[in-house]
Amino acid sequence: MKKSRVIRLGRELIGGDNRPLIQTMITTPLTSPEKAVDEAKYALDLGCRVVRTAFKDKAETQGLEKLVKSFSGEIIADIHFDYRLALAAIECGVSGIRFNPGNIGSSDRVDAILEAAKKRPELAIRIGVNGGSLDKKILSKYNGITWEGLAESSIFWARYLEERGYFNFKISAKSSNVRETVAACRKIRELSDAPLHVGITEAGGGKHGIIKGTAGIAVLLSEHLADTFRVSLTAGIDEEIRTANMILKSLDLLEKGVEIVSCPTCGRTHGKVIEYYNRLEKWLDEKRWWLLPKLKVAVMGCEVNGPGEAKDADLGMALGKDCAIYFEHGEIIKKFDDQDAAFDYLADRVREIEKIS
Ligand code: SF4
Repeated sequence: MKKSRVIRLGRELIGGDNRPLIQTMITTPLTSPEKAVDEAKYALDLGCRVVRTAFKDKAETQGLEKLVKSFSGEIIADIHFDYRLALAAIECGVSGIRFNPGNIGSSDRVDAILEAAKKRPELAIRIGVNGGSLDKKILSKYNGITWEGLAESSIFWARYLEERGYFNFKISAKSSNVRETVAACRKIRELSDAPLHVGITEAGGGKHGIIKGTAGIAVLLSEHLADTFRVSLTAGIDEEIRTANMILKSLDLLEKGVEIVSCPTCGRTHGKVIEYYNRLEKWLDEKRWWLLPKLKVAVMGCEVNGPGEAKDADLGMALGKDCAIYFEHGEIIKKFDDQDAAFDYLADRVREIEKIS
């Protein structure tokens, strides 16, 4: 697959060989600026430097200004229908604006946004085409929301911006259907080298949303079609950011972070692998494992695959009948008659190495 071109979003570079960039969207309205700033800073604490916010009307301009001034990451204003909000957001100093040119009114209004954007070379536009707000003409041409319609609308606007000499933009074409979204992104990359912002929109929450979002984003990351992405979940930003890092880690796209290897358990399992795993996962989530130095930890249930996986990890334990063997970097370090004591030892070593309590 051909590479995307590189664009700027404030201090960040997106596209080309740059690492896929995680984004999230705060849920606090700009009418409560202090709370919005707190939520954006929380995203930053979680390691997410790019935060989008809904900018709904002019009355929120002061709130947006405050957010931009108080935040050391990049703020993107999400705009619908009213092009004057895009102009106001650019004035406020946002790093990016996201809008769907198809629902902003006449092309004159899109042109006015482009003229203002050109004066801010570090500002990025996202052409955000969503299944739910697809152009009526496209909807009737394709008889509903289809990947062909998403791609056609995105490419139309990409060409429109480029013909007017504007190139610092990315494209997103999202629907709540994984296959439609993936097909649309593939087509867009075939026809354009603009970076892609990807995600599965309205994916839901909980395990359902996490799995659905991951199913689409993982394919797009694997095919180098995701220059930046958001795991859109009916959940808090912490869940979105954790899941985004988990996807990157699973695809070897995150250098740092703690990876847990554990077996699915079966009739051979000698002890409480599920309990040990759950304790480890909960604790490492609290410690934000994705921000910690790289470490692979294995918790395995028997002598079949246990020693092999435990040896392959940095730290590992393999359960045996009424015992456990503890490994570090492929070497047996200790044998325990008490499996709980082996788990406590493993957890202590993780604490020590990662310098966490
Ligand atoms: S490692 Fe052993 S206990 Fe775990 S699933 Fe494999 S065979 Fe079963």
